[in-house]
Amino acid sequence: MIIEHMDVNIVEAPLSTPFRIATGQHNTLKNVFVSLTLKSGVKGWGEAAVATHITGETVEKTFSNLKEAAAVSLGEDISDHRSFLGAFREKFAENHAGLAALEMAVLDAWTRTLKIPLWKLFGNSPVPLRSDITIVIGSLQEAETSALAYSRRGFKTFKVKVGQDHDLDLARVLAVRKAAPRVNMVIDANQGFTASGMLKFLKELKKNKVVPLLVEQPVPKNDWDGLKCVTRAVHKSGILVCADESVGSLADTVRAVRERAVTAINVKTMKSGLLEGEAIARLARAAGMELMIGAMMESALAVTASAHMAAGLGCFKYIDLDTTYFLKGPLAKSPYLDEKGCFDLSRARAGIGVVLP
Ligand SMILES: [Mg+2]
Repeated sequence: MIIEHMDVNIVEAPLSTPFRIATGQHNTLKNVFVSLTLKSGVKGWGEAAVATHITGETVEKTFSNLKEAAAVSLGEDISDHRSFLGAFREKFAENHAGLAALEMAVLDAWTRTLKIPLWKLFGNSPVPLRSDITIVIGSLQEAETSALAYSRRGFKTFKVKVGQDHDLDLARVLAVRKAAPRVNMVIDANQGFTASGMLKFLKELKKNKVVPLLVEQPVPKNDWDGLKCVTRAVHKSGILVCADESVGSLADTVRAVRERAVTAINVKTMKSGLLEGEAIARLARAAGMELMIGAMMESALAVTASAHMAAGLGCFKYIDLDTTYFLKGPLAKSPYLDEKGCFDLSRARAGIGVVLP
């Protein structure tokens, strides 16, 4: 499995709806794609979705890191993919989206060569996955309209983004509940509250008979005391407290487990790559935490790679792989994802199974 050629490109694609969260927004997708060709002619594709407003990584640096990786990879053998990829850990220590793209391309080519679907690297059978749908930050009217439309379309779990204007947030969550009374509700604050602010917010929701299943990243990512405070306070209610921005590595996961800081973790390949993502998932589950699989503003390629990982591991309770619904054009099409958020990876034959246009 000798690498003969590796291309790195920045691709920009329009969004159908701006993806707005508490810390910023995406108006377009601007991601870095890797395409790798082996001497055998087999190809593999990878994608880096850089979320500068969340991770501080940049498209330019990701592009140059991947170009440099490509230059030193020509003629290298990926048969032992772990040791091949391990050699790049230091280079990508501050650029996990870049690492994710490289891993994805290598694992895609590796599994395509062996004619096995990517999920087989992670488990024995692919569990069916059903993604939630995100209600992005916006007006009350927008929350209501999207909730109605998504509910009619068949989505069963809604992730409502909050954290910018707490009064409006409250009204939006209640509007979503009213528009879609039977759906499961998850709220994602993207660091937009203090611990006491979040507890007050949850109290207000409860007064209105709304109890979310899970609250994601209520406080700023370095506020571990705040995370713990919310986790302890809601423990009896059964609401899960999920770390997203706070946990991007295995080391962060060890800390979360040791300090019992949260009861769930959102694993994203763009935060940790696929291989460390797997280690994070295994540790968190072993410690009794629930798992969410999430994504940055990713096209069908990276979202499907994450779906393979989650379907193979089979231990993710919350699936948040809905970003292709915010995209237009060919980058939005995963062959294994339907319009209601259901992934069926049992039909995947080799690799990730998404060919870039
Ligand atoms: Mg999140």
